[in-house]
This record gives sequence, structure tokens and C-alpha cells, in this order.
Amino acid sequence: MEANPQRRGILCVVSGPSGSGKTTLCRAFNDEDPSCSYAISCTTRPIREGEVNGKDYHFLSEEEFLARVDKGDLLEHARVHGNLYGTLKSSVIEQVENGQDVLIDIDVQGASLIRNNDDPAIQASYIDIFVMPPSQEELQARLGGRGTESEQNFALRMENAQEEIAQWEKYAYAIVSGSREEDLQKFRSIIHGERNRASRLGISQKK
Ligand code: 5GP
Repeated sequence: MEANPQRRGILCVVSGPSGSGKTTLCRAFNDEDPSCSYAISCTTRPIREGEVNGKDYHFLSEEEFLARVDKGDLLEHARVHGNLYGTLKSSVIEQVENGQDVLIDIDVQGASLIRNNDDPAIQASYIDIFVMPPSQEELQARLGGRGTESEQNFALRMENAQEEIAQWEKYAYAIVSGSREEDLQKFRSIIHGERNRASRLGISQKK
């Protein structure tokens, strides 16, 4: 029997409505497990107070964003809450091919595009997790508590949350969000289990 020492990297897509806690969860996991990288997306959304260009997102004008789409730089992109968001191929493909795990925090449209991507390397690496708010009231409280959204944007995000939640069954895993520690514990067990999937380890029977 022979095991390939370099296992295949996991491309882990995490979705959930705004305020579900998915970004905090991805960052918390990335902090404790730096061998897993967290891909920085591009967006045309205005930068928020406290955000850093190149760390939270690559903040681009609509023109710059569309130029990157034309160049074929993005693995997926979608319009979310009125702004464009997209995943750079350069933050995912090579890493996964080199056995590194990559987390991407994207909306349900982007997840669907990658899930249906017919590249065998993407298919072999792909897993997805939906982070579900425990209740509508809690989602409202979390989104409001962030204090990042205008009244209009808040209403739009709450409305879009229903459409996102309707997609949860398309995901392989779902985490019903509780405390930060509970969410992180569930997240860890998913990733640790996926790392041991036989197909990733490339174990083969030699005759
Ligand atoms: P926010 O503006 O709150 O940072 O993000 C809004 C939404 O955009 C979230 O649901 C987030 O997951 C999603 N998002 C962030 N980056 C990407 C991306 O690269 N592609 C797609 N499709 N959605 C993204």
C-alpha cells in the first residue's frame, strides 16, 4: 500500500446570511490553524471604518473589477446586496494544488458557481458549509449590533437573508450558529474529518 504524503488541499466554501457569524468563524479558524489560508476577495463595496485594503478585501472600482473579470482572474463573481464580489483564482488554485487548505467566505450564488465548476481539481477539493443563524431575531440583533449598515442596507441584507437561507440544503454541512466557541468546535471537526478523507490522502493499493 502506498500513501501519497502530499494530500490534496481542501477548498472550503463557507456561506450564510450577513450577520450569521461566518466571517468571524473563518477568521477564528484561520488564526488557530495558519496552515489553512483565508482567501481575500475583491469587492466594489465601499470600505468600512476599520477595514484594511488587501486584508479584509481588495477594494476595487467597478471598472477595475470588470477589467479583472475580462482578464479571467476570477474563479467566480456575483452581485451581492448591490455590489460586486469575486474570488481571485490566484488566492485559491495554486494553494489547493500544493496541498494547502483554503477557506472562502462567499454568498450562495458564488458557492453555486464553484460547486458546478467542471474543473476536476476544483471538484476534488471542494466542500461547503452553511452557517445558519439560530433565529430571525438573533440574526437581526447580530446584524444590527455590528453597526456597519445604513437603515436601507440593513433592510436589504435582512431581505436577502431569506433567499440565502432557502439554499442551505445544497450544502454538505450546516452549522446552526450558537456561541463562538460552539461554532468553532463544529467547524474544526468538519475540517479535521475532511482532512482524513481517503481520496485526499491518495492512498492506493499497489499490486
Ligand atoms: P460584506 O459586505 O458583509 O463583507 O459581504 C457581503 C456578502 O458578500 C457576504 O455574504 C459574503 O459572504 C459575500 N462575499 C464576500 N466575498 C465574496 C466573493 O468573493 N464572492 C461572492 N460571490 N460573495 C462574496
